[in-house]
Amino acid sequence: MILRLAASSGFCFGVRRAIQMALDASKDSDVVFSTGELIHNPQFVQELEEQGIKVAHDAKDIHDSTVIIRSHGITREDLTLLQAHGNTIIDATCPYVSRTHELIQTAINEDYEVIILGDARHPEVIGMMSYGNQHTRVIAPGEIPTDLKGKRVCLISQTTQKIENLNKLACDILPQVLELKVYNSICLATTQRQNASAALAKDSDLMIVIGGRKSSNTKMLASLCSQYCETLHIETEEELKAETLLGKARIGLCAGASTPEDRILKVYNKIKKINGEEDLATRIHNIPLFKEESC
Ligand code: SF4
Repeated sequence: MILRLAASSGFCFGVRRAIQMALDASKDSDVVFSTGELIHNPQFVQELEEQGIKVAHDAKDIHDSTVIIRSHGITREDLTLLQAHGNTIIDATCPYVSRTHELIQTAINEDYEVIILGDARHPEVIGMMSYGNQHTRVIAPGEIPTDLKGKRVCLISQTTQKIENLNKLACDILPQVLELKVYNSICLATTQRQNASAALAKDSDLMIVIGGRKSSNTKMLASLCSQYCETLHIETEEELKAETLLGKARIGLCAGASTPEDRILKVYNKIKKINGEEDLATRIHNIPLFKEESC
């Protein structure tokens, strides 16, 4: 059996940065609140909670505390509320996400109608929307707006979208509009991860995508890989059954930006054990094909 891990799998730089900032803050405070789950990975969120980093689901519930804004960012309104409530704010919004907030504000000031490609329920997109105006809207992949005749439109994307989706929407909109400004706001970490995962899927009999079921970028990886080979999305190694691996000579692994290294290792080592192999890995860097992201 050939078992490989796609390059750039696991924590992206934005997630690593947010976790490090939260851990640093927890050394100085008994409790640090994060605005929603710091990463979309239930097992890891539990581990962080044991270190005093607790999830707050509503900004209005946090007063006079240390608060970390997670990498997805938050809405403008929630930021104002947190400041008004006397909190010490540690802003771990990923720079790629902050850039989308700035671009949306600039486009609004230049009188463009802003369209955000993404998942309207995702916290990152909810945050982006708050920097728009009453004309700003979210379009899901595959949808085509038909009311843009003669308008000046700015198209921007959730950072974890597939580039094909952005390409397609831009082409679908172009014939209607007077002017179209398109920002490629898909982050480099996502692009590298998607390219490496797709390349591995093309050369595998089975792809196993590891990551939280609520993680947008992990779901996107699973959808991408399933275009090329049989694909399984799991959160932990416990979901992996020996029968699934039967007859699969080339197995590829990849993982979302919020998947910790030890989750990837556990899946890799479980497959090795099922296959009767004893050379288990202690670091993902030892797994064939893996290379750390370069952004
Ligand atoms: S996936 Fe990209 S935008 Fe999101 S936190 Fe990671 S580096 Fe930042």
